[in-house]
Amino acid sequence: MQEIDTLIRARWIVPVEPEGLVFEHYALAVDEGRIVELLPQDEAAQRYRATEVVDCPTHALIPGLVNAHTHASMSLFRGLADDLPLMDWLDGHIWPAEAQWVDAQFVRDGSALAIAEMLRGGTTCFNDMYFFPEATAAVAGACGVRACIGLIVIDFPSAWARNADEYLTKGVQLHEEYLSHALITTALAPHAPYTVGDEALRRIHALANELDMQIHMHVHETEDEVRQSLERFGVRPLERLAGLGLVSPRLMAVHMTQLTPGEIAQIGEAGAHVLHCPESNLKLASGFCPVQSLLQAGANVALGTDGAASNNDLDMLVEMRLAALKAKAVARDARALPAARALRMATLNGAEALGLDQEIGSLLPGKSADLVALDLGGVECEPVYNPISQIAYSIGRESVRHVWVAGRQLLRDRALTTLDEGEVVAKARAWRDRIAGRSLPG
Ligand SMILES: [Zn+2]
Repeated sequence: MQEIDTLIRARWIVPVEPEGLVFEHYALAVDEGRIVELLPQDEAAQRYRATEVVDCPTHALIPGLVNAHTHASMSLFRGLADDLPLMDWLDGHIWPAEAQWVDAQFVRDGSALAIAEMLRGGTTCFNDMYFFPEATAAVAGACGVRACIGLIVIDFPSAWARNADEYLTKGVQLHEEYLSHALITTALAPHAPYTVGDEALRRIHALANELDMQIHMHVHETEDEVRQSLERFGVRPLERLAGLGLVSPRLMAVHMTQLTPGEIAQIGEAGAHVLHCPESNLKLASGFCPVQSLLQAGANVALGTDGAASNNDLDMLVEMRLAALKAKAVARDARALPAARALRMATLNGAEALGLDQEIGSLLPGKSADLVALDLGGVECEPVYNPISQIAYSIGRESVRHVWVAGRQLLRDRALTTLDEGEVVAKARAWRDRIAGRSLPG
Protein backbone atom coordinates (compact mmCIF):
# COMPACT_ATOMS: atom_id res chain seq x y z
CA MET A 1 0.00 0.00 0.00
CA GLN A 2 1.28 3.41 -0.97
CA GLU A 3 0.66 6.33 1.39
CA ILE A 4 -0.81 9.41 -0.32
CA ASP A 5 -2.46 12.65 0.78
CA THR A 6 -5.83 12.42 -0.99
CA LEU A 7 -7.91 9.94 -2.94
CA ILE A 8 -10.92 11.33 -4.80
CA ARG A 9 -13.47 8.70 -5.87
CA ALA A 10 -15.73 10.10 -8.59
CA ARG A 11 -18.66 8.80 -10.66
CA TRP A 12 -16.96 10.31 -13.71
CA ILE A 13 -13.50 11.71 -14.36
CA VAL A 14 -12.99 13.85 -17.46
CA PRO A 15 -9.25 14.24 -18.00
CA VAL A 16 -9.72 16.59 -21.06
CA GLU A 17 -6.68 14.96 -22.61
CA PRO A 18 -7.42 13.04 -24.78
CA GLU A 19 -10.43 15.12 -25.76
CA GLY A 20 -13.82 13.55 -25.07
CA LEU A 21 -12.55 10.72 -22.83
CA VAL A 22 -14.66 9.88 -19.74
CA PHE A 23 -13.64 7.42 -17.02
CA GLU A 24 -16.47 5.88 -14.99
CA HIS A 25 -16.15 4.88 -11.32
CA TYR A 26 -12.52 5.94 -11.25
CA ALA A 27 -10.39 7.45 -8.52
CA LEU A 28 -7.73 10.11 -8.72
CA ALA A 29 -4.75 9.86 -6.38
CA VAL A 30 -3.04 13.05 -5.19
CA ASP A 31 0.20 13.40 -3.29
CA GLU A 32 2.21 16.51 -2.45
CA GLY A 33 -0.05 18.61 -4.65
CA ARG A 34 0.33 16.46 -7.76
CA ILE A 35 -1.76 13.91 -9.61
CA VAL A 36 -0.24 10.47 -9.03
CA GLU A 37 -2.62 8.22 -10.94
CA LEU A 38 -6.14 7.78 -12.34
CA LEU A 39 -7.41 4.23 -11.87
CA PRO A 40 -10.56 2.16 -11.26
CA GLN A 41 -11.88 2.61 -7.71
CA ASP A 42 -11.46 -1.07 -6.75
CA GLU A 43 -7.81 -1.01 -7.82
CA ALA A 44 -7.26 2.27 -5.96
CA ALA A 45 -8.52 0.59 -2.76
CA GLN A 46 -5.82 -2.08 -3.14
CA ARG A 47 -3.01 0.28 -4.01
CA TYR A 48 -3.36 3.47 -1.95
CA ARG A 49 -3.83 4.42 1.70
CA ALA A 50 -4.91 8.07 1.67
CA THR A 51 -4.92 10.52 4.57
CA GLU A 52 -8.21 11.86 3.17
CA VAL A 53 -10.72 10.08 0.95
CA VAL A 54 -13.28 12.30 -0.80
CA ASP A 55 -16.35 10.54 -2.17
CA CYS A 56 -18.03 12.14 -5.17
CA PRO A 57 -20.74 9.56 -6.07
CA THR A 58 -22.77 11.80 -8.41
CA HIS A 59 -19.94 14.06 -9.52
CA ALA A 60 -17.75 14.68 -12.52
CA LEU A 61 -14.14 15.53 -11.68
CA ILE A 62 -12.55 17.88 -14.22
CA PRO A 63 -9.40 20.02 -14.39
CA GLY A 64 -9.79 23.47 -12.80
CA LEU A 65 -11.19 26.04 -15.21
CA VAL A 66 -8.74 28.63 -16.54
CA ASN A 67 -10.24 32.11 -16.91
CA ALA A 68 -7.88 33.38 -19.60
CA HIS A 69 -8.90 37.03 -19.46
CA THR A 70 -10.21 39.13 -16.61
CA HIS A 71 -9.79 42.34 -14.66
CA ALA A 72 -10.49 40.88 -11.22
CA SER A 73 -10.93 43.96 -9.10
CA MET A 74 -13.36 45.53 -11.58
CA SER A 75 -15.88 43.25 -9.83
CA LEU A 76 -16.47 46.27 -7.58
CA PHE A 77 -17.89 48.06 -10.68
CA ARG A 78 -20.28 45.19 -11.45
CA GLY A 79 -23.48 46.69 -12.84
CA LEU A 80 -22.24 50.29 -12.49
CA ALA A 81 -22.88 51.07 -16.17
CA ASP A 82 -24.73 48.72 -18.49
CA ASP A 83 -26.17 48.70 -21.99
CA LEU A 84 -23.55 50.91 -23.63
CA PRO A 85 -21.08 50.37 -26.50
CA LEU A 86 -17.41 49.93 -25.53
CA MET A 87 -16.10 53.48 -26.02
CA ASP A 88 -19.11 55.19 -24.36
CA TRP A 89 -18.85 52.71 -21.52
CA LEU A 90 -15.10 53.32 -21.08
CA ASP A 91 -15.00 57.09 -21.72
CA GLY A 92 -18.21 58.04 -19.97
CA HIS A 93 -18.24 55.65 -17.04
CA ILE A 94 -15.41 53.20 -16.39
CA TRP A 95 -12.37 55.46 -16.89
CA PRO A 96 -13.83 58.30 -14.75
CA ALA A 97 -14.82 55.80 -12.02
CA GLU A 98 -11.33 54.29 -12.12
CA ALA A 99 -9.71 57.73 -11.86
CA GLN A 100 -11.82 58.45 -8.79
CA TRP A 101 -11.77 55.16 -6.93
CA VAL A 102 -8.98 52.78 -7.92
CA ASP A 103 -6.21 52.47 -5.34
CA ALA A 104 -4.40 49.56 -3.67
CA GLN A 105 -7.26 48.94 -1.22
CA PHE A 106 -9.85 48.93 -4.02
CA VAL A 107 -7.77 46.35 -5.91
CA ARG A 108 -7.27 44.19 -2.79
CA ASP A 109 -10.99 44.14 -1.93
CA GLY A 110 -12.10 43.76 -5.55
CA SER A 111 -9.63 40.93 -6.16
CA ALA A 112 -10.85 39.07 -3.07
CA LEU A 113 -14.46 39.40 -4.28
CA ALA A 114 -13.48 38.16 -7.75
CA ILE A 115 -11.42 35.23 -6.45
CA ALA A 116 -14.26 34.17 -4.12
CA GLU A 117 -16.66 34.23 -7.08
CA MET A 118 -14.24 32.43 -9.38
CA LEU A 119 -13.50 29.63 -6.90
CA ARG A 120 -17.23 29.11 -6.31
CA GLY A 121 -17.55 28.82 -10.09
CA GLY A 122 -14.78 26.24 -10.53
CA THR A 123 -12.06 28.59 -11.76
CA THR A 124 -8.65 27.67 -10.34
CA CYS A 125 -6.45 29.95 -12.47
CA PHE A 126 -7.06 33.43 -13.85
CA ASN A 127 -5.15 35.65 -16.25
CA ASP A 128 -5.50 39.21 -15.00
CA MET A 129 -4.84 42.73 -16.29
CA TYR A 130 -5.30 45.72 -14.02
CA PHE A 131 -3.74 48.56 -12.04
CA PHE A 132 -1.96 47.76 -8.74
CA PRO A 133 -1.13 44.25 -9.94
CA GLU A 134 0.94 43.69 -6.78
CA ALA A 135 -2.29 43.91 -4.76
CA THR A 136 -4.02 41.26 -6.91
CA ALA A 137 -0.91 39.06 -6.73
CA ALA A 138 -0.80 39.35 -2.93
CA VAL A 139 -4.49 38.43 -2.51
CA ALA A 140 -4.23 35.52 -4.96
CA GLY A 141 -1.09 34.26 -3.20
CA ALA A 142 -2.80 34.48 0.21
CA CYS A 143 -5.90 32.58 -1.05
CA GLY A 144 -3.87 29.83 -2.70
CA VAL A 145 -5.45 30.31 -6.13
CA ARG A 146 -3.32 30.20 -9.29
CA ALA A 147 -2.93 33.44 -11.26
CA CYS A 148 -1.04 35.04 -14.09
CA ILE A 149 -0.73 38.68 -13.11
CA GLY A 150 -0.68 41.11 -16.03
CA LEU A 151 1.82 43.93 -15.76
CA ILE A 152 -0.37 46.62 -17.24
CA VAL A 153 1.00 49.32 -19.56
CA ILE A 154 -1.18 52.15 -20.80
CA ASP A 155 -0.26 55.57 -22.21
CA PHE A 156 -2.16 57.53 -19.61
CA PRO A 157 -1.50 58.19 -15.95
CA SER A 158 -3.31 56.32 -13.19
CA ALA A 159 -2.99 56.22 -9.42
CA TRP A 160 -0.50 53.37 -10.01
CA ALA A 161 1.91 54.90 -12.52
CA ARG A 162 2.43 58.15 -14.45
CA ASN A 163 3.61 56.94 -17.85
CA ALA A 164 4.63 53.85 -19.84
CA ASP A 165 8.15 53.97 -18.37
CA GLU A 166 6.89 53.83 -14.82
CA TYR A 167 4.34 51.10 -15.61
CA LEU A 168 7.13 48.99 -17.09
CA THR A 169 9.65 49.64 -14.31
CA LYS A 170 7.13 48.72 -11.62
CA GLY A 171 5.95 45.75 -13.66
CA VAL A 172 9.42 44.29 -14.11
CA GLN A 173 10.03 44.69 -10.38
CA LEU A 174 6.89 42.68 -9.63
CA HIS A 175 7.91 40.04 -12.20
CA GLU A 176 11.21 39.57 -10.37
CA GLU A 177 9.49 39.33 -6.99
CA TYR A 178 7.34 36.40 -8.16
CA LEU A 179 9.94 34.55 -10.25
CA SER A 180 10.05 31.54 -7.95
CA HIS A 181 6.44 31.55 -6.73
CA ALA A 182 4.69 28.19 -7.13
CA LEU A 183 1.28 29.58 -8.18
CA ILE A 184 1.78 33.17 -9.37
CA THR A 185 3.29 33.99 -12.75
CA THR A 186 3.37 37.30 -14.64
CA ALA A 187 2.81 38.51 -18.21
CA LEU A 188 3.37 41.84 -19.90
CA ALA A 189 -0.03 43.47 -20.42
CA PRO A 190 -0.16 46.42 -22.80
CA HIS A 191 -3.83 47.43 -22.59
CA ALA A 192 -4.72 47.76 -26.30
CA PRO A 193 -3.33 49.04 -29.62
CA TYR A 194 -5.30 52.29 -29.21
CA THR A 195 -3.91 53.03 -25.72
CA VAL A 196 -0.24 52.06 -26.12
CA GLY A 197 2.19 53.77 -28.53
CA ASP A 198 4.84 52.20 -30.73
CA GLU A 199 7.75 53.12 -28.48
CA ALA A 200 6.29 51.34 -25.45
CA LEU A 201 5.32 48.35 -27.62
CA ARG A 202 8.91 48.07 -28.89
CA ARG A 203 10.18 47.95 -25.29
CA ILE A 204 7.53 45.38 -24.40
CA HIS A 205 8.60 43.21 -27.33
CA ALA A 206 12.24 43.38 -26.21
CA LEU A 207 11.37 42.69 -22.56
CA ALA A 208 9.18 39.72 -23.48
CA ASN A 209 12.09 38.09 -25.28
CA GLU A 210 14.64 39.01 -22.63
CA LEU A 211 12.52 37.82 -19.68
CA ASP A 212 10.69 35.02 -21.53
CA MET A 213 7.19 36.42 -20.90
CA GLN A 214 3.80 36.23 -22.60
CA ILE A 215 2.08 39.41 -23.83
CA HIS A 216 -1.56 39.87 -22.84
CA MET A 217 -3.41 42.53 -24.89
CA HIS A 218 -6.90 43.47 -26.10
CA VAL A 219 -6.74 43.35 -29.93
CA HIS A 220 -9.44 43.95 -32.57
CA GLU A 221 -12.18 44.23 -29.97
CA THR A 222 -14.46 46.46 -32.06
CA GLU A 223 -14.94 47.77 -35.59
CA ASP A 224 -14.26 51.26 -34.27
CA GLU A 225 -10.81 50.23 -33.00
CA VAL A 226 -9.89 49.01 -36.50
CA ARG A 227 -11.25 52.20 -38.13
CA GLN A 228 -9.29 54.45 -35.73
CA SER A 229 -6.09 52.52 -36.37
CA LEU A 230 -6.52 52.94 -40.13
CA GLU A 231 -6.93 56.70 -39.59
CA ARG A 232 -4.02 57.12 -37.14
CA PHE A 233 -1.51 54.58 -38.43
CA GLY A 234 -2.72 53.71 -41.92
CA VAL A 235 -2.90 50.02 -41.01
CA ARG A 236 -5.18 47.67 -39.09
CA PRO A 237 -4.10 47.04 -35.44
CA LEU A 238 -2.91 43.47 -36.07
CA GLU A 239 -0.73 44.62 -38.98
CA ARG A 240 0.78 47.32 -36.79
CA LEU A 241 1.52 44.76 -34.05
CA ALA A 242 3.01 42.38 -36.63
CA GLY A 243 5.27 45.19 -37.88
CA LEU A 244 6.54 45.59 -34.31
CA GLY A 245 7.26 41.85 -34.09
CA LEU A 246 4.48 41.20 -31.59
CA VAL A 247 2.45 38.59 -33.48
CA SER A 248 4.12 35.43 -32.19
CA PRO A 249 3.48 32.51 -29.79
CA ARG A 250 3.99 35.04 -26.99
CA LEU A 251 0.88 37.01 -27.96
CA MET A 252 -2.37 36.40 -26.07
CA ALA A 253 -4.77 38.53 -28.11
CA VAL A 254 -8.07 39.18 -26.34
CA HIS A 255 -11.40 39.42 -28.21
CA MET A 256 -10.37 39.37 -31.91
CA THR A 257 -13.90 39.96 -33.16
CA GLN A 258 -12.86 41.75 -36.37
CA LEU A 259 -10.72 39.45 -38.51
CA THR A 260 -10.21 39.05 -42.24
CA PRO A 261 -9.49 35.58 -43.67
CA GLY A 262 -5.87 36.71 -44.13
CA GLU A 263 -5.61 37.72 -40.47
CA ILE A 264 -7.10 34.40 -39.33
CA ALA A 265 -4.43 32.55 -41.33
CA GLN A 266 -1.73 34.90 -40.00
CA ILE A 267 -2.66 34.16 -36.36
CA GLY A 268 -2.64 30.42 -37.00
CA GLU A 269 0.73 30.53 -38.76
CA ALA A 270 2.27 32.76 -36.09
CA GLY A 271 1.14 30.43 -33.29
CA ALA A 272 -0.48 33.33 -31.43
CA HIS A 273 -3.23 32.69 -28.86
CA VAL A 274 -6.75 34.12 -28.97
CA LEU A 275 -8.51 34.77 -25.67
CA HIS A 276 -12.19 34.66 -26.55
CA CYS A 277 -14.68 36.42 -24.24
CA PRO A 278 -18.10 35.57 -25.71
CA GLU A 279 -20.33 37.15 -23.06
CA SER A 280 -18.45 40.47 -22.93
CA ASN A 281 -18.51 40.66 -26.75
CA LEU A 282 -22.26 40.08 -26.73
CA LYS A 283 -22.99 42.62 -24.01
CA LEU A 284 -20.89 45.39 -25.56
CA ALA A 285 -22.09 44.37 -29.05
CA SER A 286 -18.42 44.25 -30.09
CA GLY A 287 -18.78 41.58 -32.75
CA PHE A 288 -18.22 37.86 -33.19
CA CYS A 289 -14.91 36.06 -32.86
CA PRO A 290 -14.65 33.53 -35.73
CA VAL A 291 -13.71 30.68 -33.38
CA GLN A 292 -14.28 27.81 -35.78
CA SER A 293 -12.15 29.42 -38.51
CA LEU A 294 -9.40 30.24 -36.01
CA LEU A 295 -9.31 26.64 -34.75
CA GLN A 296 -9.22 25.38 -38.33
CA ALA A 297 -6.31 27.74 -39.02
CA GLY A 298 -4.41 26.11 -36.13
CA ALA A 299 -4.77 28.96 -33.63
CA ASN A 300 -5.06 28.18 -29.94
CA VAL A 301 -8.33 29.67 -28.63
CA ALA A 302 -8.89 29.96 -24.87
CA LEU A 303 -11.85 31.39 -22.93
CA GLY A 304 -12.19 34.30 -20.55
CA THR A 305 -14.92 36.28 -18.84
CA ASP A 306 -13.41 39.76 -19.14
CA GLY A 307 -14.06 41.93 -16.07
CA ALA A 308 -17.35 41.65 -14.17
CA ALA A 309 -18.09 45.26 -15.16
CA SER A 310 -18.75 44.18 -18.76
CA ASN A 311 -20.16 40.68 -18.30
CA ASN A 312 -21.50 40.95 -15.41
CA ASP A 313 -20.07 37.83 -13.76
CA LEU A 314 -16.96 35.65 -13.72
CA ASP A 315 -18.71 32.43 -14.70
CA MET A 316 -16.62 30.18 -16.94
CA LEU A 317 -19.44 27.63 -17.31
CA VAL A 318 -21.48 30.32 -19.06
CA GLU A 319 -18.53 31.29 -21.27
CA MET A 320 -18.14 27.65 -22.29
CA ARG A 321 -21.79 27.38 -23.25
CA LEU A 322 -21.87 30.73 -25.06
CA ALA A 323 -18.65 29.92 -26.91
CA ALA A 324 -20.13 26.65 -28.18
CA LEU A 325 -23.46 28.24 -29.16
CA LYS A 326 -21.95 31.35 -30.77
CA ALA A 327 -19.43 29.30 -32.74
CA LYS A 328 -22.28 27.26 -34.21
CA ALA A 329 -24.27 30.39 -35.08
CA VAL A 330 -21.27 32.21 -36.62
CA ALA A 331 -20.16 29.13 -38.61
CA ARG A 332 -23.82 28.24 -39.40
CA ASP A 333 -22.85 24.70 -38.52
CA ALA A 334 -24.21 22.83 -35.48
CA ARG A 335 -21.09 20.64 -35.54
CA ALA A 336 -18.86 23.65 -34.85
CA LEU A 337 -17.22 23.70 -31.40
CA PRO A 338 -18.63 20.52 -29.80
CA ALA A 339 -18.97 20.21 -26.01
CA ALA A 340 -15.64 18.45 -25.42
CA ARG A 341 -13.81 21.12 -27.42
CA ALA A 342 -15.50 23.89 -25.39
CA LEU A 343 -14.32 22.19 -22.19
CA ARG A 344 -10.80 21.95 -23.59
CA MET A 345 -10.88 25.67 -24.44
CA ALA A 346 -11.88 26.45 -20.83
CA THR A 347 -9.03 24.36 -19.41
CA LEU A 348 -6.08 23.11 -21.46
CA ASN A 349 -6.16 25.83 -24.12
CA GLY A 350 -6.02 28.48 -21.39
CA ALA A 351 -3.09 26.69 -19.81
CA GLU A 352 -1.35 26.58 -23.20
CA ALA A 353 -1.81 30.32 -23.78
CA LEU A 354 -0.23 30.99 -20.39
CA GLY A 355 2.64 28.60 -21.06
CA LEU A 356 1.40 26.42 -18.17
CA ASP A 357 0.23 23.36 -20.11
CA GLN A 358 2.95 21.17 -18.61
CA GLU A 359 1.58 22.03 -15.17
CA ILE A 360 -2.23 22.36 -15.44
CA GLY A 361 -5.18 22.12 -17.86
CA SER A 362 -5.71 18.36 -17.94
CA LEU A 363 -5.66 15.43 -15.52
CA LEU A 364 -2.40 13.70 -16.38
CA PRO A 365 -0.15 12.04 -13.77
CA GLY A 366 2.58 14.48 -12.76
CA LYS A 367 0.49 17.59 -13.32
CA SER A 368 -0.62 19.81 -10.48
CA ALA A 369 -3.83 18.69 -8.74
CA ASP A 370 -5.97 21.68 -9.80
CA LEU A 371 -9.39 20.02 -9.72
CA VAL A 372 -13.11 20.71 -9.68
CA ALA A 373 -15.88 18.30 -8.62
CA LEU A 374 -19.20 19.12 -10.30
CA ASP A 375 -22.32 17.51 -8.83
CA LEU A 376 -24.45 16.23 -11.72
CA GLY A 377 -27.10 14.61 -9.49
CA GLY A 378 -30.62 16.04 -9.33
CA VAL A 379 -33.50 17.04 -11.56
CA GLU A 380 -31.60 19.74 -13.46
CA CYS A 381 -28.97 17.26 -14.68
CA GLU A 382 -30.45 13.75 -14.88
CA PRO A 383 -30.21 11.54 -16.78
CA VAL A 384 -26.50 11.69 -17.56
CA TYR A 385 -25.53 9.89 -20.77
CA ASN A 386 -22.33 11.86 -21.21
CA PRO A 387 -21.21 14.21 -18.40
CA ILE A 388 -19.41 16.49 -20.89
CA SER A 389 -22.78 17.34 -22.43
CA GLN A 390 -24.13 18.35 -19.00
CA ILE A 391 -21.02 20.42 -18.26
CA ALA A 392 -21.24 22.35 -21.53
CA TYR A 393 -24.99 22.69 -21.91
CA SER A 394 -26.91 22.06 -18.65
CA ILE A 395 -25.28 23.00 -15.38
CA GLY A 396 -24.75 26.26 -13.53
CA ARG A 397 -22.25 27.28 -10.86
CA GLU A 398 -24.39 25.73 -8.09
CA SER A 399 -23.05 22.37 -9.35
CA VAL A 400 -19.50 23.27 -8.29
CA ARG A 401 -19.04 21.38 -4.98
CA HIS A 402 -15.29 21.09 -4.35
CA VAL A 403 -12.23 22.87 -5.74
CA TRP A 404 -8.56 22.10 -5.23
CA VAL A 405 -5.47 24.03 -6.34
CA ALA A 406 -2.17 22.16 -6.17
CA GLY A 407 -3.87 19.56 -3.98
CA ARG A 408 -5.12 22.08 -1.42
CA GLN A 409 -8.90 22.24 -1.05
CA LEU A 410 -10.06 25.85 -1.49
CA LEU A 411 -13.79 25.06 -1.76
CA ARG A 412 -15.39 22.34 0.37
CA ASP A 413 -19.10 21.70 -0.18
CA ARG A 414 -19.36 25.20 -1.67
CA ALA A 415 -17.67 26.82 1.36
CA LEU A 416 -14.47 28.80 0.80
CA THR A 417 -11.63 27.59 3.01
CA THR A 418 -9.11 30.42 2.59
CA LEU A 419 -11.40 33.45 2.23
CA ASP A 420 -13.98 34.76 4.71
CA GLU A 421 -17.09 35.04 2.55
CA GLY A 422 -18.88 37.36 5.02
CA GLU A 423 -15.95 39.74 5.12
CA VAL A 424 -15.58 39.75 1.31
CA VAL A 425 -19.26 40.64 0.91
CA ALA A 426 -19.20 43.30 3.65
CA LYS A 427 -16.26 45.03 1.96
CA ALA A 428 -17.97 44.93 -1.45
CA ARG A 429 -21.06 46.54 0.09
CA ALA A 430 -18.97 49.25 1.74
CA TRP A 431 -17.47 50.10 -1.69
CA ARG A 432 -20.95 50.14 -3.21
CA ASP A 433 -22.05 52.70 -0.59
CA ARG A 434 -19.03 54.92 -1.26
CA ILE A 435 -19.21 54.70 -5.05
CA ALA A 436 -23.02 55.00 -5.33
CA GLY A 437 -23.02 57.86 -2.82
CA ARG A 438 -20.81 60.02 -4.98
CA SER A 439 -21.05 59.01 -8.60
CA LEU A 440 -24.68 58.12 -9.16
CA PRO A 441 -27.48 60.68 -9.18
CA GLY A 442 -29.85 60.62 -6.20
ZN1 LIG B 1 -10.70 43.07 -20.99
